[in-house]
Amino acid sequence: MKIIFLGAPGAGKGTQAEKVSRKLGIPTISTGVIIREAVKCGTEMGLKAKEFIDKGALVEDDVVIGIIKERLQKSDCKDGFILDGFPRTVPQAEALDKMGVTLDRVISIEVPDEVISERMTGRRVCATCGASYHVSDNPSLDGVNCDKCKTELTVRADDAPDVVLSRLAVYHETTEPLKEYYLKRGILKTVDGNGSVEQTSKRTLEAIGV
Ligand code: AMP
Repeated sequence: MKIIFLGAPGAGKGTQAEKVSRKLGIPTISTGVIIREAVKCGTEMGLKAKEFIDKGALVEDDVVIGIIKERLQKSDCKDGFILDGFPRTVPQAEALDKMGVTLDRVISIEVPDEVISERMTGRRVCATCGASYHVSDNPSLDGVNCDKCKTELTVRADDAPDVVLSRLAVYHETTEPLKEYYLKRGILKTVDGNGSVEQTSKRTLEAIGV
């Protein structure tokens, strides 16, 4: 199956994508994860991307399209994949079409902006393994370190309150029109993401039909 997860930053796309990924045995490809990895490694692309990420803006279309094109050629994508955080603009969606990708489902996880702000500012992440927690909804066992690799958890720079507001504005203006794009094709399903992770998972799996 080839699935896209749409939704505002912090809507829970990554969490749900991981669950579906395990259930269906297909990889999740997150442009956010790939870009942050490049930032961490200090590659040329990473250094350029950091300027955009830190202010809550989108990285240029050409760069993310290149990342996806390369990633989808890997052999683990042959039986399907989940895209988390791509496409985020109409030109990115058009580029995916040009790559010849036939999508089965586009899942839009819907969460009110106020809930998103609360979620993102409480998010804590592990810079070593990428695990994500929340100070009240999903804390790590000791509330300080990552459960998996014991690294001290940190706040992502782009989860700062003013950056979160910019990211939400960018989402509504640039990414949300993609719902219309995929609705016209009859493959869009919206999922209420304003609940527990388990409730959203149940709704997501129903929407995918698995
Ligand atoms: P995420 O972890 O998906 O919220 O992504 C973090 C940041 O990476 C975003 O705020 C953007 O700056 C950048 N990014 C991730 N995916 C894309 C994309 N498809 N298009 C442009 N920028 C992206």
